[in-house]
Amino acid sequence: MFQTTRFRLALWYTITTAILILLFATGVYLYVRYTLVERIDDTLEHVIELMERSLLLDGVRNYPQTTQVNEPSLEDDHIDVEWFDSDRHLVWSTLNQPLEIPLNPSLYGITVTITPVEQFRQITKTIIMDGQVMGYLRVSHPWFEVTKPSRRLIIDLGLGSSLMIACVAASGWFLSGIAIKPVIDSYQSLRQFTADASHELRNPIAMIQANVQMALAESEIEGKLHLDAQQLKVIERITQRLGRLVNDLLFLARSDSGMLQMVFQPIPLDALLIEVTEEQRILATQKGVNLKLELTESDLESEPFTIAGDWDQLVRLFTNLISNAIVYTQEIVTVKLSRLKKGNRYHIQIEISDRGCGIPPEALNHIFERFYRVDSARTHVSGAGLGLAIAVAIVENHQGQIKVESKLNQGSTFIVSLPC
Ligand code: ADP
Repeated sequence: MFQTTRFRLALWYTITTAILILLFATGVYLYVRYTLVERIDDTLEHVIELMERSLLLDGVRNYPQTTQVNEPSLEDDHIDVEWFDSDRHLVWSTLNQPLEIPLNPSLYGITVTITPVEQFRQITKTIIMDGQVMGYLRVSHPWFEVTKPSRRLIIDLGLGSSLMIACVAASGWFLSGIAIKPVIDSYQSLRQFTADASHELRNPIAMIQANVQMALAESEIEGKLHLDAQQLKVIERITQRLGRLVNDLLFLARSDSGMLQMVFQPIPLDALLIEVTEEQRILATQKGVNLKLELTESDLESEPFTIAGDWDQLVRLFTNLISNAIVYTQEIVTVKLSRLKKGNRYHIQIEISDRGCGIPPEALNHIFERFYRVDSARTHVSGAGLGLAIAVAIVENHQGQIKVESKLNQGSTFIVSLPC
């Protein structure tokens, strides 16, 4: 599928460029040909002017009756002159053999003709003395002076254009390969995402199915449907997990397609973090984890930690990070809020540190990938590996940055930086 698209892209690129090259080559050819013809016409006009002047000075009748100088030859570069009397009879010429070409003068001007067989370019001028037509001067120049270099030019331009089109086709193929690479990559990651999502959805659905089938089997034996509280609890827990997963998938899908409804408003991050930590304190206390929130003093008097953001999304971001920290530590989790100056812009930095199991170095590069879990053994039951991917999406929606520093068995620090 991608090869066909790549081929089409390269083909269109080559066709478009080939048309432009051919237009350019035609332009060059026409320009050169026009210049050649113009040069010959200039020469012919110059000769005719000289001849006319000398005719008029010497007197037309004193001119020799026959002067034959040249043998007309197609490959000879020379100019020949013919003189016709007022009755249009050839009087003299520099040609060995008269040209069997009828005289074609305009009454007072200059007529430029190419002979029918296209062998000569000719200019004919009517010579007038004291208001009387004295005769006609015709100057001829071999046409090969134009056709020969024109033919050469056609061959050269043809070869050059073909070579260029071949190069364009090759570079088109190469460039379309580069252009299609991100499409292939995003298609692969979409496929991976769909495969992972289906896999994650299948497990809880299978568990619900198993519980219900068990209840049904028991009901067949006992004659009535009987679901005990334990089974119902399992089903309820799994459905909750399923709901969360579908929610997370929907959030990421909307975020990817830019369909996420964002309500940007001034958000005091200190107030938001107080709310989130209070919510998470219940979980922390249950686990015996000490959850601390530290607000660094700021020189600004009012609203030093206010940013433009979406309240719900930011709550989700910090809930994900703080709940992870609580899950992966037994001791202490610190949430630190500070205001920093980077260049001439202010940023709010939020650090969530724990003294837990840490993340192995080889996992650090993948930690923010969708469905990535360091190892399934230590992952809490409800996690599907989407929490950090969602955190990244939210931080990106707020033009911020997120990074992690971690040492195995010593703890991790997630650092979020959001522009003011
Ligand atoms: P989950 O919802 O499964 O926790 P996350 O995307 O939030 O998914 O996290 C991905 C993985 O990163 C987790 O499986 C866990 O192994 C690791 N991880 C996240 N936060 C921490 C932390 N504070 N300490 C150690 N490991 C963590």
